[in-house]
Amino acid sequence: MLYSDLAETFDRLESTGSRLEMTAILAEFFKRADKKELRRIVYLSQGKLHPDFVPGVLGMADRLVVKAIAKASGHPEDVAEKMVVETGDPGQVAEALISRKKQMALFSEDLTVDRVVRQLTEIENADGKDSQDRKQKTLASLLHDSGPLEARYLCRTVTGRMRVGAADMTILDALAEAFATKEDRPAIERAFNVTCDIGLVAETIAEGGMDAVRGISVSVGSPVKVMLAERLPSIGEIMERMGGRCAMEFKYDGIRVQAHIGRESVKLYSRRLEDLTSNFPDIAESLRERCKYGEAIIEGECVAVDPETGNMLPFQNVTHRRKKHGMDEAVRDVPVRIFMFDLLFADGTDRTHDPYESRRGSLESGFEIGGQVQMTTMRVVESREEGEEFFANALAARCEGIMAKSLAEDSVYRAGSRGFLWIKYKKDYQQALTDSFDLTVVGAFYGMGKRAGRYGALLMAAYDQETGRFETVCKLGTGFDDAFLDGMPSLLDGSLSETRPPSVDAEMVPDVWFEPAVVLEVVAAEITLSPIHTAAMDVLKPGSGLGIRFPRFTGRVRDDKSPEQCTTVSEIVEMYGMQAHDSDGLSE
Ligand code: AMP
Repeated sequence: MLYSDLAETFDRLESTGSRLEMTAILAEFFKRADKKELRRIVYLSQGKLHPDFVPGVLGMADRLVVKAIAKASGHPEDVAEKMVVETGDPGQVAEALISRKKQMALFSEDLTVDRVVRQLTEIENADGKDSQDRKQKTLASLLHDSGPLEARYLCRTVTGRMRVGAADMTILDALAEAFATKEDRPAIERAFNVTCDIGLVAETIAEGGMDAVRGISVSVGSPVKVMLAERLPSIGEIMERMGGRCAMEFKYDGIRVQAHIGRESVKLYSRRLEDLTSNFPDIAESLRERCKYGEAIIEGECVAVDPETGNMLPFQNVTHRRKKHGMDEAVRDVPVRIFMFDLLFADGTDRTHDPYESRRGSLESGFEIGGQVQMTTMRVVESREEGEEFFANALAARCEGIMAKSLAEDSVYRAGSRGFLWIKYKKDYQQALTDSFDLTVVGAFYGMGKRAGRYGALLMAAYDQETGRFETVCKLGTGFDDAFLDGMPSLLDGSLSETRPPSVDAEMVPDVWFEPAVVLEVVAAEITLSPIHTAAMDVLKPGSGLGIRFPRFTGRVRDDKSPEQCTTVSEIVEMYGMQAHDSDGLSE
């Protein structure tokens, strides 16, 4: 297939705001694409060459792209550079300059999808001496044989700016439309949730149909989307919802880790699918040593412990592990334990379909528990009083709260979904009205007075899973200490955007925009209807969105969460509902 075919489809996707239309465009394209190429086409439509859990990202610096555009189009570098500064979009610049090429190429080779993938892979893998030069030359060679539209998407892809609206959910809809039926949509989504590989799902459905898709199951080496918890405002409501009986576990304050224990080696993934193995080599080793299964996938929370007292330490201590360069020192200075809470796979069997008690039983019996490998503290609770006592014990043990887990027959591991099979309850719920929020920074306002010359406040957004867009909920200016204020440019400026990023919906206009990249934890007093914030706009009341009042940064940068994993708009709607029913009646 020619890359121009793909570029035309991207252009059509970009020119519609309707998700239904996008789905139809993609479905039609998937049907006519070569089955063998579909996997790569799906990755390319998301600006990638492989699933996220495979290391490596395309992220060429604008200055190299400017050089390549100048070379391929025959225009001076300073012209291209000035245009990139003005537009903030090397794609647009490449398109314009390639269409005004100074001389026609005498020899040009077809730009096939195959060639594009091969050369983009060279760019992604270029390493060491001369790598910048090689990247730029490879891109120039691609641009040399491109038309204007192809050049637009090549330059957006290499700089990590490819956002044509092909969000995961839209691609899954399109696959169902092209190769199956609406009724098959949940099974297709499950295949994605247990493999985190949308290209694999596309290839499987195109080649083997729904039977093959249903055969996709959890496997060691391919991370599984994590199961998430709902929240309720009191232990009483949790007990009622759980039918009077449930398991409760301590909720540890650390980093969630999904461990893929192979016969020879172990890989640890974060909830955003980053490979954390090199941050916790000691945990990886202990898990292998203590695991009685040949192969297993488990989940647990990695928590720092005080080497003197054995007490658990706050979250910040584990993040040091992620930042430290000298891993040997970190392993010695910040001892860590893993508190295991789930078993997803053991010796050839996908355990995600089993109920909670069966998974937990096989987890405990499948390991020599001890040393760095522990089980989460758990108790079966049968009344509100027992639940409250357990919650008090959790706080006394320096945990942040409890996780209630259903004991019903259908208490399976629901990959990638948030539901009431797990309900969290944290100590923050007792002080403030709501849970904390993990929000994405999409803009900043310059400060005044003491903060003059620095960013003084940030525009924060939640993620809408349906549309794949970021919608604003508050302007955040409280909770920043001097060190954070000073560090803001280095944290944020890598994602500066000249204009409002296409994935952001905002009425408020900040002094600078950012591509969604950084997630911060925020607490707030309440959620209110707001005419200036775009989250859930028109959902509860025409002309109103939802905003959060008196937001305060907790000091925690959630670098374990990707922007798409931040608090969702539907969670905020739900929290608003919970708060509206609260007897304090604070919301209205
Ligand atoms: P939150 O990040 O507030 O949505 O809470 C969910 C997170 O709590 C999970 O993703 C885990 O990282 C963490 N967690 C701590 N203890 C447990 C536990 N016993 N069971 C499940 N998750 C836990």
